[in-house]
Order: sequence, then C-alpha cells, then structure tokens
Amino acid sequence: DEDLALLDGGEGGEVPAGPAGPLPVLAVVGRPNVGKSTLVNRILGRREAVVEDKPGVTRDRVSYEAEWSGRRFTLVDTGGWEVDVAGIHARVAEQAEVAIALADVVLFVVDATVGATSTDEQVVRLLRKAGKPVVLAANKVDGPRAEADAAALWNLGLGEPHPVSALHGRGTGDLLDTAVSGLPEVSAAGGAIREGGPRRVALVGRPNVGKSSLLNKILGEDRVVVDAEAGTTRDPVDELVELGGKRWWFIDTAGIRRRVHQTSGADFYASLRTQAAIEKAEVGVVLVDASVKMTEQDTRVISQVVEAGRALVIAYNKWDLMDEDRRPFLEREIEQDLVQVQWAPRVNVSAQTGWHTNRLVPAIEKSLASWDTRIPTGRLNAFLGELVAAHPHPLRGGKQPRILFATQADTRPPRFVIFATGFLEAGYRRFIERRLRETFGFEGSPISISVRVRE
Ligand code: GDP
Ligand code: GDP
Repeated sequence: DEDLALLDGGEGGEVPAGPAGPLPVLAVVGRPNVGKSTLVNRILGRREAVVEDKPGVTRDRVSYEAEWSGRRFTLVDTGGWEVDVAGIHARVAEQAEVAIALADVVLFVVDATVGATSTDEQVVRLLRKAGKPVVLAANKVDGPRAEADAAALWNLGLGEPHPVSALHGRGTGDLLDTAVSGLPEVSAAGGAIREGGPRRVALVGRPNVGKSSLLNKILGEDRVVVDAEAGTTRDPVDELVELGGKRWWFIDTAGIRRRVHQTSGADFYASLRTQAAIEKAEVGVVLVDASVKMTEQDTRVISQVVEAGRALVIAYNKWDLMDEDRRPFLEREIEQDLVQVQWAPRVNVSAQTGWHTNRLVPAIEKSLASWDTRIPTGRLNAFLGELVAAHPHPLRGGKQPRILFATQADTRPPRFVIFATGFLEAGYRRFIERRLRETFGFEGSPISISVRVRE
C-alpha cells in the first residue's frame, strides 16, 4: 500500500495529511536543559538527535503530530531558544505565555536533580494565572534513588510530580497517560471551527511588514467592540471583530500589538507565535512588504500556512511606497518565490493610507470557500475519467498504472485519494492537481492528492 501525499508544489515528499479539524494541543514547557527536547523525542518515538548539548541552538520545527494510546494530538516543543543569562527570566515567561495561549494541556518539565528554581516558580505563577490544566514532570529521575527529589516538587503546588527519566524512558508512559487523559476530543482553542462560529484569521508576516498598522487600520475603521459570544471559547489574546458585515476571530492580536524587542531569540519567538496563530486559525493572511525584496522569512511564513493546511491570502503591504522602478523586480519575485502558491489570492494594500484594505475580506472569504469545498464523488470521477482518457499516465517499462477511482476524503483543506493499480509519478500527480485546480478552482486553498495502490 503506497500512500503519497502531495501538497501543492511539493516534490512528492511525504507530507503529513492534516487531521479533519483541530487536534488537541499538548505543549511542553520548562526552562532550558531540563530535558524538554529529550522528552519530546521520546514521545515521538524518535532517535534522531534533535537534542543539542550546546545551549543556544534554535530549532525551527515547533509542533509535531503525535499519538499515544490511540489518541492523536499536536505536540508543541517550546525548547528551541537561545540562552542568554541576563534575559532568561523574560524569555522563559514569554515562552510559557505562548505555550499557554496555544495549549489544551501544559506539560511542565522540571529538573528534579536541581529542584525548583526561581525561574520555575515564575512559570508556575503564569500557569496558575492562566488556569490551563498542567501535568508536572519531574525529569532526570533515572533511578529509584532520585525519587525523593521528585517528591520535593510537591512544593510547587501543581499537584503530583510525575517522576520520569526522559533519557531512559522511565515513567514516561504513566506521564503521558495522565497528560493525554486531560486532553479534550478536539482542541478547545480551535473548537469553534467545527461549531461554525466566527471564522478564524491569523494575520502573520515577518517583523515590520506592517501587521500592527494593518490591524489598527482595519479595526479602527470598522470595529465594533464586541464581547465574547456565549458558548464560544475564547482566548484573551484573540479578538472578535466585525469586518465587512461579518464577525471574525483575529488570532493573537495581543502578539501582533506587542512590539518585538530585538533580543536574541526574538526570531524564534516570532516564529513560534506565528505557528501558534496559524494552527488556531482557518486562514492565514500573510503580509509582505512590497517595497523591499522578498526575504526567506516571508516565504517561510507562507510555507507555514500551507504546511499547516490552512487557507491562504497574500497581502502586499506598503503599496504607497511602490515606485515604478521596483515594479518589474516585484513581478519577478512573485514568479520566482511564489510559484508554489500561485493559487493564493494576492491583494495589494497600504496599511498606512487604508488603500484597498477593503479587499482583504473578499479574498479571505474566497480562500475559505475553497478550503471548505467538497467535490461530489460522481463529478470527481467523471472529471478524472475524461482526464485520464485524454492524457493517460506515461508508459514506463511496459507498465502503465490505471486509475480506478477517486474520492475526496476530506475538506479544510480538500484532500483527495486516488486508487490506482500502480505508483503514479510525481509529475503526473502534479498534472492532475493542476487540472483539478483549473476545473474546480480551489483558489486560496492548499489541496493534497494521495495515491493508494491496489494490486
Ligand atoms: P531542553 O533544553 O529542556 O530541551 O533539554 P534537552 O532535552 O536538550 O536536555 C538537556 C540535557 O539533559 C541533555 O544533555 C540531555 O541528555 C539531558 N537529559 C534529558 N533528560 C534526561 C534524563 O532523564 N536524565 C538525565 N540524566 N539526563 C537527561
Ligand atoms: P509589524 O512589526 O509587522 O507589526 O509592523 P508595524 O505595523 O509595526 O509597521 C512597521 C513600520 O512600517 C512602521 O514604521 C509603520 O508605520 C510602517 N508601515 C506599516 N504599513 C505601512 C504602509 O502601508 N505604508 C508605509 N509607508 N509604511 C507602513
């Protein structure tokens, strides 16, 4: 059985197929060197060394899909920061804040051999204030003799410390049982997605592209101050706003408004917040500064949205600064850097003057409609039948895989499964995807095609 997921523009690599609806989130929090990454690796059942002996190594990847006892969840590793002793309190707090905003359950890791430090206690205060469920891991309890160290952590007031050795696996099963049993069926933070409440928008982009300016502009003009609706889960960092005659959740407005202080590690936090916001959202509006050359950071944010399987809108901001000299360069950048996401609607705006900001909502709506689209099986197979008749899969070594049947397995984003008698080449899958888009649209939504081989 071959199952190749292909995200738009991907080179046929294995792309994890997103779940239908948001998975609950377990976030691993703790100060540096307590063993968070070791624990994350153990949970993921991995041997590869993400763990670095040397502090100061930042890791890009912060969230993973994990499974324990048949329960699937998103595991968030907040461990990748740069250690700078002077600022450590501030950054631990910031890390905990992000994790808290994101998590359904927090797994708080303390080094039992060191005991609770003042930094640990500071995190405890934040956790208590937020009121999210916390499971306390007393790590580095490698043998029975260290059990007493774990017991000392009752003092933190977070309930029972679970003695574990992330390194050797001791006690981690019980710890995970406890953590997973506290997770809701779907993410509380994202639960409204399924219940059909106001849709969730993440306004993202690298620092200084104009996120907070845009937020202020659009909220300043159209804003109706609204209270949280009854029955809607709400995070204090999100804001319910009225825009274009509809209500929307803007995710992590607190994070957008905060001026990012340029300490070391700020990039990492920006990226973590971005990822957290995208995961809570249904659509990512990626803001890009049109007046300067597109950077790798811009394309990375776009990839984050696509990889999370969210709808996408690209907004070119600071259009008031555009001069004719830059135009051809911009066009070339769009061709080169955005080739993977040609399907995304682009809007040109100016947060400063408000020019064209009213075009954002229609673009968001279009992308979300694509994200929600379901093609009836009959139509899909009629389309595919015609396509395959006109353009059969190339013959390779005398063999030619036949396409038997296709179905749309999922929406949000649309995912298709094709049953075939053999492996379909990446080029042919891309061809099918291109034709799917030509025929059915899907403007603003990633789509994926996977192939199941039936002998
Ligand atoms: P992080 O900064 O919190 O992500 O911590 P790491 O996972 O990078 O671990 C820091 C150091 O502690 C590494 O050298 C690990 O090998 C070590 N470590 C992690 N867990 C354990 C454990 O259970 N027992 C012992 N003895 N060492 C551990
Ligand atoms: P953020 O870091 O993405 O939130 O970016 P800010 O909203 O703080 O904007 C960064 C800088 O760009 C500020 O000096 C803004 O005044 C400026 N800026 C934002 N949007 C525009 C725009 O549309 N046109 C011009 N000319 N400047 C802008």
